[in-house]
Amino acid sequence: MTPFDYARAESVADAVSRAGAVGAKYLGGGTNLVDLMREDIEHPQSLIDVTPVGQSIELRGDGGILIGAGAKNTAVASDRNVRKLYPMLARAILAGASAQIRNMATVGGNILQRTRCLYFYDEVAHCNKREPGSGCDALEGFNRYHAILGASPACIATHPSDMCVALAALDAVVHLQGAEGTRSLKLVDLHRLPGDRPDLETALKPGELITAVALPPLAFAKRSTYRKVRDRASYAFALVSVAAAIEVEAGTVKNLRLALGGVAHKPWRAFVAEESLRGQPATEASFRAAAERELAPANGLKHNAFKIELAKRTMVATLVSLTATGDRT
Ligand code: SF4
Repeated sequence: MTPFDYARAESVADAVSRAGAVGAKYLGGGTNLVDLMREDIEHPQSLIDVTPVGQSIELRGDGGILIGAGAKNTAVASDRNVRKLYPMLARAILAGASAQIRNMATVGGNILQRTRCLYFYDEVAHCNKREPGSGCDALEGFNRYHAILGASPACIATHPSDMCVALAALDAVVHLQGAEGTRSLKLVDLHRLPGDRPDLETALKPGELITAVALPPLAFAKRSTYRKVRDRASYAFALVSVAAAIEVEAGTVKNLRLALGGVAHKPWRAFVAEESLRGQPATEASFRAAAERELAPANGLKHNAFKIELAKRTMVATLVSLTATGDRT
């Protein structure tokens, strides 16, 4: 590991002012960044520990929730208001990693964690994300966990977060502080698709810090869930996951939110399926038709083509279960 300096930020302003130094990087729980440093993939010259900054989880006057970026994943998943108002978020977090990692990982760090593509972590492999212009060994390699939507010839990696899939479905807004002031971005606009620059992963400006995540009020999110399909029952990344909330009135879909994980370089908000389901009968046939439309542009490779059908079936099964009387799982 390359030597680095360490400083503990005393405030958001303190953190942002330190971020101007060459090679500086924010440190959350370290559950991904420290691994990347040990693997010789990330080489920060200084780490700014931002874990003391913004750990609160507050119910707002409008009925939404504001989560500090330093809040631990475990704290968010166990928060009474999160569990009651946005059960999909609590379930998504609990579906990720292990209890020990969730106890360390912060909300901000979870959002900015990097792909777990095996070739990204293998320094002898060609990887456009690690070394722009070097190629992508995953294209012809073992690509079971790779993207079926929004990928490019330069990169087919997926975003590994479960939490972010729920945040995408909930229209979460990310609050940012940089040297030039504050701004906010919808989470769905924060992560980028790879295009020809997979090394550029987010819309963050240099030195910008995620300070909080706002969950807007969404009454029907009380009826929501997160379903994750993976190779092992725990401590495994998603092959496909679905975050869903639905409001049904007189047998018709009045409103819904859908997002997919494990399928793209970013949490994939299923806008096409949402649009095609509003006003339709809340039936398995309608859910299947919407899933077909969402996955129509999907592209499978040698080892991951099965995920196209898996994504459709998981969407349908999640919506069927959410709309079944008395069953919210
Ligand atoms: Fe690198 Fe992306 Fe290719 Fe993986 S899929 S090897 S992260 S360029």
